[in-house]
Amino acid sequence: MWNVNVGTLFPDLFPGPLGVSCIGKALGSLWHLNVRDLRNYALDKHKTVDDTPFGGGPGMVMKADVLDNWLSEVYNGGRIIYMSPRGKLFKQQHINSFLEKDLYILCGRYEGVDCRFLKHWNVEEVSIGDYVLCGGEIAAMTLVESCVRLIPNVLKNAESVAHDSLSNGLLEHDQYTKPYSWVPKNCEIEYNTPCVLKSGNHRRISEWKKSNSEKVTQEARSDLWIEYVRKKEKNADS
Ligand code: SAH
Repeated sequence: MWNVNVGTLFPDLFPGPLGVSCIGKALGSLWHLNVRDLRNYALDKHKTVDDTPFGGGPGMVMKADVLDNWLSEVYNGGRIIYMSPRGKLFKQQHINSFLEKDLYILCGRYEGVDCRFLKHWNVEEVSIGDYVLCGGEIAAMTLVESCVRLIPNVLKNAESVAHDSLSNGLLEHDQYTKPYSWVPKNCEIEYNTPCVLKSGNHRRISEWKKSNSEKVTQEARSDLWIEYVRKKEKNADS
């Protein structure tokens, strides 16, 4: 079973969104979550977890000795991750490698953590995007949720995963559901569903999905589109 260990100053935030729906139902049977309050690993009677940065500057820094106390107690082999805006950007294509080993995830707060802890434990820094949060908890949940949904039997409709945005380098095609023709309130406009989707012709439907997916990607994410075209050309050459 895939074990996720989390070190945080706000353990009450967990499992939070990880405790509901398919991810929550699988918790305890298909994956395991071990959340520890880093304050319990403080070494003095005031339970100090942070201190002022050497060299001055704003804010506080989480103490290496406290973090070391946590990790040496819980560590049993696996990948050690510090959620950090300085880290490598987390992407869909990294998920399978994250699922290969148990995870130990440190959620930072304040200005971050003493870099000596990261060096000593050979910690990987992982960012969920180019913006700064107040703490690593939401980032950790983001990483864990996107991994857990790819564990076999977690999602009811396993097939949906293969069609997800990004899984093949493209964004997912547009979706429609009943009614076939929809007229918004107080409005004359009628929005129809592309008729091919009702045709029952599987080949034409999958062609429509593919070309719609390409169009959506081209319009919304030119970076992904360029990469997709480049790969396609490379495959054609070889
Ligand atoms: N001063 C730090 C930011 C600290 S933000 C810096 O400039 O690098 C406080 C904590 O929030 C961090 O320790 C980290 O755990 C978390 N965090 C903030 N933004 C994040 C992001 N984009 N991805 C992952 N974790 C993030």
